[in-house]
Amino acid sequence: MKKKGIIILGLFIISLIIVSCFLCPKKEEKKTEIMTIVEDNPDAVISIHYPKTHIQRLDQKIESDIVKQYISFYEQYGNSDYLMDRDELNIDYQYYETEDKVISIALTVYIHSYKLQYPSWHIKTYHFNGKTEKEMQLKDLFQEEKFGTVIDKIRTMMMEEYRDSILPENLEQLLSDDFIHYPYFSFDQDYFYFYFPEEVLASDYPEMITVKLPIEELPLKIKLSKNKPKQVQTSGKIEENIIDPKKPVVALTFDDGPSAYTNEIIEILKKYEVCATFFVLGNKVEDYQDVLRKSIAYHNELGNHSYNHKWLSRLSISSLKEQVEKTQQILKDTVSYQPKYLRPTYGSVNDRIRKNTDLKIVLWTVDTKDWKIKNIDRIVEKATTNIKDGDIILMHDIFERSAKALDKIIPILKEQGFQFVTISELEEVKKLRGYIQVE
Ligand code: ZN
Repeated sequence: MKKKGIIILGLFIISLIIVSCFLCPKKEEKKTEIMTIVEDNPDAVISIHYPKTHIQRLDQKIESDIVKQYISFYEQYGNSDYLMDRDELNIDYQYYETEDKVISIALTVYIHSYKLQYPSWHIKTYHFNGKTEKEMQLKDLFQEEKFGTVIDKIRTMMMEEYRDSILPENLEQLLSDDFIHYPYFSFDQDYFYFYFPEEVLASDYPEMITVKLPIEELPLKIKLSKNKPKQVQTSGKIEENIIDPKKPVVALTFDDGPSAYTNEIIEILKKYEVCATFFVLGNKVEDYQDVLRKSIAYHNELGNHSYNHKWLSRLSISSLKEQVEKTQQILKDTVSYQPKYLRPTYGSVNDRIRKNTDLKIVLWTVDTKDWKIKNIDRIVEKATTNIKDGDIILMHDIFERSAKALDKIIPILKEQGFQFVTISELEEVKKLRGYIQVE
């Protein structure tokens, strides 16, 4: 009896250990998120995008640099008198992580001001080993004894690309074989990039000098290949949105994503069986391609909101086209989607935009101001008060509060008799209404 008791107790303890092993919280590895800050102030427009890696030391470094940039921007700029003359700060990112968790981040800081002859550019780069959480230098990436061959390549490329702007004596002084002379660099799966501040090479060259070398030609110490992204399958069949053109419609639209909150937003839309339109930024498409695929599978529509949120209406034609076309291309390449609509940044449209894109331009009729208002109920109020048939509501899928507000907005608008449409459906409804009387 005693023996049996011990065996039962033993089995009980073993099963407890097994169960607790399944239940014990594993240190969950958090995925890198892309943070976006967009401000449309009377004095300045700001658009900042940066990765949050959940490696504390690295995140602190990046965030403190961003705060410094923001403060110094407001110290020097951001006091324009006219709305169209407002100074602009745009910080964009490049993020790459190898299969061994070596992380390369480049932040591009762009300032457009009427105080400057040309928009100014500079870059900040960060390299970290995600496993050891240690910073990485150029010497950790290259075989030191062969670095001379890399310098030869840089010299050749610079002479080819920047021959007219570079003073050869400056170039020779710059290209030494000491790693310390190359503080700005980044890489992805195909290329290694070296950046040089323009003032070190030529006095009046308006752009940052970038030399791009194919990875396979370089004497690297470590592999820079990437894990293939896992494709996420969406579960459950989603029915197509059936709209009665005789009944009132409203279009929910979300700008500046995708982000870590987009998934929550599309799940809320799915819960209420409604669809919306997401005006996405091209620079975030690759990092959130799974959530975009899911959004498309749930019959949401994707629109184009530029590549990195530069103020489109004052860019040159070539930069404007690049902002729009790069986003079209990356959506086509990663999620096989071609948007039909463009929502210009800061809601600012001019003839130059109209003439230089085939996309239809869509603004909004109701602004929830969710980028500024922190109170969820105030956002809900903005999105549900005096809403008219055919309204287009502007929200942003980069805030948790917008997701929380959405969960309240949909049932209220449904109660008011609205059907939810995408921008394409709204256009379709308007066409049909040419023939049908609205109730
Ligand atoms: Zn925007």
